[in-house]
Amino acid sequence: MSKGDRQRSLSVPLRLISDGQLAWSATVPASALLVPESQDSLRIADVEVPLDSDVGVAVVLELISGGLSVAGEVTAAWSGPCARCWLPLDGEVQTTVREVFTAEPREGEQYRLGPEYADLTPMVRDAALLELPIEAIRCPHPEPCPNLPAQLAEARDDSADGGPAELADPRWKALEALRGRMDEPS
Ligand SMILES: [Zn+2]
Repeated sequence: MSKGDRQRSLSVPLRLISDGQLAWSATVPASALLVPESQDSLRIADVEVPLDSDVGVAVVLELISGGLSVAGEVTAAWSGPCARCWLPLDGEVQTTVREVFTAEPREGEQYRLGPEYADLTPMVRDAALLELPIEAIRCPHPEPCPNLPAQLAEARDDSADGGPAELADPRWKALEALRGRMDEPS
């Protein structure tokens, strides 16, 4: 889908639902998922959904007793560092959703259905953030990570002892260098 097909919102007018069902799809900029008036970003730990990337939604809305069922797929881009060598990487998550929208939702279980619109934004945001590959990102060719110092490239981060903490994080090395300087008598 080209950027020209981007829409502004994930609000689906309920009047579009005929015969009890509607197949609906949209592509929106990830920034459309931000909570208005909130400081929250689309980030969990070091992994984020870039705000200018596309988020795709393809769902079937179906009228059910007491509300609306929404089922389908959400795709979103992510960017974040390799967990071993901190090389910046990006990728895409694709996840399925199956949720119920109702006028009086149960907190954490259902989403709010308006009188005229079903706003899919909170559902899509939750689905994308839940699927982010937290602490699971590896370089595509992990042995060795291209960004690892040579002496660490042979170390395996999945060994029983030590583990990833044994691998130097570039940020920690910067901190160590700083500490070294501070310890020097002036
Ligand atoms: Zn790596």
